Amino acid sequence: MVVTYSILGDLVADLVGDAAKVIVVIPNGQDQHEFEPSAKVVEQINNADFIVSNGLDLEEHLTGVLAEAATRGVGVFTAAEHVTLRRANAKLTDAKNGNDPHLWLDPITLAEMIPDLSVELGKVLGVDLSESAAQLSLRLDTIDAKIKEIMSTVPRCALVTGHDSLGYFAARYGCQIVGAVIPSLSSSAETSAGELANLKTAATQANARAVFTEIGTPRAVVDQIAKEVGVKSVELRTHMLPPGGHYADVMIQLATSIADALK
Ligand SMILES: [Zn+2]
Repeated sequence: MVVTYSILGDLVADLVGDAAKVIVVIPNGQDQHEFEPSAKVVEQINNADFIVSNGLDLEEHLTGVLAEAATRGVGVFTAAEHVTLRRANAKLTDAKNGNDPHLWLDPITLAEMIPDLSVELGKVLGVDLSESAAQLSLRLDTIDAKIKEIMSTVPRCALVTGHDSLGYFAARYGCQIVGAVIPSLSSSAETSAGELANLKTAATQANARAVFTEIGTPRAVVDQIAKEVGVKSVELRTHMLPPGGHYADVMIQLATSIADALK
């Protein structure tokens, strides 16, 4: 069983338990948007009995390899095809992007795929995953409840982020997206002096309390913007698991970091 990135791999491993070994091809901590597959990764994908991917070009440089594997008859489950998608933030989007691939940053959106995923994986593995799926869905509900509790301590959640990654989180937990250092759904896009100037104006007008940074965003640029706006810069772990941690840790740490910075 191949899963493209670590956070999704953690959920799939949770769902299948001992019924399958999960191989994650994008190493945890590497940027999904930027990852380029080695010959070994291409081989792992082509030899997989089944693949679970995110879709919507999150795994930008794996798209062709995944399509090729599918034409060879490898089953591919694309998470984005089984959840309610949000559109890119209109003021941040670039022409290439439409729907936001960062669906794991809201446990309720992610939970929508569990019924279809468990049925498909159950078929491939020849096991009944319905009980495991029910338990995973409950855990996702619990994570959501904990995040709500954490975010209830934030008087006003105005987010300036590294790239446009927190749209699902913002929509679920009542935050406003003020802007992003890289105004795109992908960290691989570019920014410009004009866009950074607009961001500083927007952050000041929105009275943002912090500038958040994440994978793929140059820290020096973020620190400079934060300094000019007169707020702190805070690193968020949005695209990876913490060392030894799981999906729940990603989300609880994310909400806690945001809440601590904005209180
Ligand atoms: Zn991203």
